[in-house]
Amino acid sequence: MLLKSTLKGLKLITKNLNIKEIFLAGKLLREGKLVAFPTETVYGLGARADSDNSIKRIFNVKGRPTFNPLIVHVASIKMAKDIAVFDKQALKLIDNLWPGPITFVVPLKKGHNISKLVTAGLDSVAIRFPKSLIAQQILSSAGVPIAAPSANLSGRISPTSAIEVFEDLDGKINAILDGGSCEVGVESTIIKTDPITLLRPGGISPEDIQRITRTEVFFLNEGASIVAPGQLKSHYAPKASVKLNVHNLEPNEVLLGFGNVENATLNLSPSANLSEAAKNLFYMLRKLDHEVSKDDFKVIAVSPIPKIGIGLAINDRLKRASAPRY
Ligand code: AMP
Ligand code: MG
Repeated sequence: MLLKSTLKGLKLITKNLNIKEIFLAGKLLREGKLVAFPTETVYGLGARADSDNSIKRIFNVKGRPTFNPLIVHVASIKMAKDIAVFDKQALKLIDNLWPGPITFVVPLKKGHNISKLVTAGLDSVAIRFPKSLIAQQILSSAGVPIAAPSANLSGRISPTSAIEVFEDLDGKINAILDGGSCEVGVESTIIKTDPITLLRPGGISPEDIQRITRTEVFFLNEGASIVAPGQLKSHYAPKASVKLNVHNLEPNEVLLGFGNVENATLNLSPSANLSEAAKNLFYMLRKLDHEVSKDDFKVIAVSPIPKIGIGLAINDRLKRASAPRY
C-alpha cells in the first residue's frame, strides 16, 4: 500500500512494501535524493555515497557535524570489495557475520568513487552489508553504494520505526519507506582489524567476534578521537535528562525498567532479555520523553543493565543519552 503524505511535501510512506515501491526508492536514490529506509539496526537516511551534493544534504538535514563520517551501505560483499581493502581477519568476520549488524573500518581502495564528505577526508571508510531484506532490495535496486546514517536529527534518539523518522525529518527528505519496527534496535557494531578493535559496541557482541577470530578484541579508550571521529559523548539524547543504574525512584523520576522491577512506567524487558531490551530501547526512550514533557516530570531513570553481549551497546547508548549536553 502506498500512502501519499499530506504533510509538508514528503513523497511517500509505504506499508507492506512491494517491488514497485522498492524500485521507486532505488530510482530516487540513484537520482541523488534522500530516502529513509529500515535496516535491522535502526532506520537509515540514505543517499548516494559517490555524490558530494547528496551527502551535503544528509549533513544539512540531520544537522550533523561534518567531521562525523558516514557508514557506506552495500548490497553485496563484491560491492564492498570494489570500494575498500579487507585483510584476512576482516574477511573471516565478513564470512561469518555479513549480512548483519557489523561495520568494518577499512582502507579505501585505489580508484574508489566515494565522496570525501562521506569519510570526513579520512583514507579509510566504514562499510556495512545489512541483513534486512528490505534494505538489501533497496540497495540492490539503487545499484550504487549508499551512505546511510540513522534517520534522525543529529544528537537525538535513533528511529526504529517509520513514524519516528517522520517526527524528525518530515518535509526535509524525499521519501520514507515503512518496513515496520527494526529487529535489532541499536546501531551496528563498528570495528577495525589489525588488531581487532571495537570502535562502537552494537548489534554484534565482542564475545561473538572473539569466538570467530579466536583473538583478543581491544576496546577503544576514551579520547582516541582519531580512529572513531564521530563518537560524540552526548548522543541519543531525549529532551528530559537521564539517570542510570537506578534502584530507588525519586518523586521526580519515571522509571525505564529492566527485569523484575516495581514501579516501571515502561520496562525494556520484564524477563531481563537483552535482545528484547535493545529492540525496545530507543522507542521507549522516545515514548518516555513525550510522557515526561507532558506530565512535567523531570528525569528518566533507568534500571541497571548487565554489560554483557548486546547489553554493552545498550549501556553505551544510555551513557551518551545521560551525558551533559553541549
Ligand atoms: P552513525 O552513522 O551515526 O551510525 O555513525 C557512524 C560512525 O562510524 C561514526 O560516528 C564514526 O565513529 C564511525 N566511522 C565512520 N567512518 C569511519 C572511519 N573512516 N574511520 C573511523 N570511524 C568511522
Ligand atoms: Mg546516528
